[in-house]
Amino acid sequence: MLSFLSKTLKTFRHGIHPGDYKDLTRDLDIARLPFSDELTIPLSQHLGAPSRCLVKVGDKVNRGQIIAEPAGFVSIGQHAPVTGTVKAIEMKHHPSGKMVESVIITKDPFSPQTFYNEHAMEWENLSPDELISLIQHGGFVGLGGAAFPTHVKLKTPEGKNARFLIVNGVECEPYLTSDHRVMLEQSADIFLGIRILLKILGAEKFYIGIENNKPDAIALLTKNIPSDMNGEVVALQTKYPQGAEKMLIEAVLKREVPSGKLPIDVEVVVQNSGTIAGIGMMFRFGQPLIERVVTITGPGINNPANLLIPIGTPLTDVLDYCGGLKENTRQVLFGGPMMGAPQSDLDVPILKGTSGILCLTDEEVTIKEEFPCIRCLRCVDACPVYLNPSRLGALAKTRDYEGMLEYHVMDCVECGSCSYVCPSNIPLVQRFRVSKALLREKQAKAVKKSA
Ligand code: SF4
Ligand code: SF4
Repeated sequence: MLSFLSKTLKTFRHGIHPGDYKDLTRDLDIARLPFSDELTIPLSQHLGAPSRCLVKVGDKVNRGQIIAEPAGFVSIGQHAPVTGTVKAIEMKHHPSGKMVESVIITKDPFSPQTFYNEHAMEWENLSPDELISLIQHGGFVGLGGAAFPTHVKLKTPEGKNARFLIVNGVECEPYLTSDHRVMLEQSADIFLGIRILLKILGAEKFYIGIENNKPDAIALLTKNIPSDMNGEVVALQTKYPQGAEKMLIEAVLKREVPSGKLPIDVEVVVQNSGTIAGIGMMFRFGQPLIERVVTITGPGINNPANLLIPIGTPLTDVLDYCGGLKENTRQVLFGGPMMGAPQSDLDVPILKGTSGILCLTDEEVTIKEEFPCIRCLRCVDACPVYLNPSRLGALAKTRDYEGMLEYHVMDCVECGSCSYVCPSNIPLVQRFRVSKALLREKQAKAVKKSA
């Protein structure tokens, strides 16, 4: 009966069904991580221009104080997560593997864990542009992992219409449960955030998309929808990568975002549920984005948890708080197993886009031998954006990047579904990531040359 019900639920075409492994943390309440002695705030932890630093070494800063301002429209504000002193402004290791200019703050021993401001921000009489500016300066990015500045998606381009807001509560990456816990524990913040976003967009209706492996969140949010709001919770089949914007729009509204187009081209804006809860909190308490919920999980960590972590906390301190790594831990990833980024340096800071810390052991991290493609086409059946990963993989191997363009490699959402199903263990998505980066670099050089 249940499986029949599951099949009648909405979803997108193609995709895969990896095990969800969420049992480790799905029932664990969010706990607050104590402050570390030193926090590192990279000035670039979002897509777009790095923030412009406003403080200097020796400055005293308060929790929530702005320490860097947006350096353009596609940029955000950064804030001190802790009350303390600016110890240094220097290049530091970043979870992306790069060196990034960062503000290092030494904690004041009496820094309050609660927010010092704690008063509601008036929003009803503000214009959409004023609200967008507050969200930009509040430092908001997509908390699902992409870290795209939230306000940019809220600025509807001339001639476009945002009729629908879709709240992304899918969390389709295996292991991760931070969005799930936020939906269960912060529903009032989510609905306030939705109200504000609907006002900005002028949208007529909202949908909250949640997969049916989170029945408690589906029930709670359905029950709590305020009676004066036009919206609904949409229960979705559990399938990967349903959290990708284009897949979610197809699942909820049966609208297809054409190649090279954006959700706004089909009258939709998608925002992550955790981001919306954070915006609700900012307007309730005046608190900018200075902390976030992170799932620390996997067979390689002693005490899995869902923690509210100040941005800039060293990864080592988080792992220590969770009882440390097990002896046979082989890999620590920021994010989930499908799209997460392996970390080689455990001193890197937690970023705004860090949704999870996944600790895998020898057993999960086996290096498999690669075999030739056997043309089974499983990758074609799995690809949610209808690419031909088999063909693209062959082109990548011969470094035929122009050929890859003809096969629409730039539409690849890097979900890894093709690699997951490939019986020949061909590292398809890894090759597509590299190829896309090279093609972007080539295009940028060509634009510069012609300018
Ligand atoms: S080609 Fe890209 S979008 Fe298609 S399954 Fe592979 S990684 Fe996902
Ligand atoms: S799944 Fe792997 S072996 Fe099968 S067609 Fe695709 S690339 Fe080839």
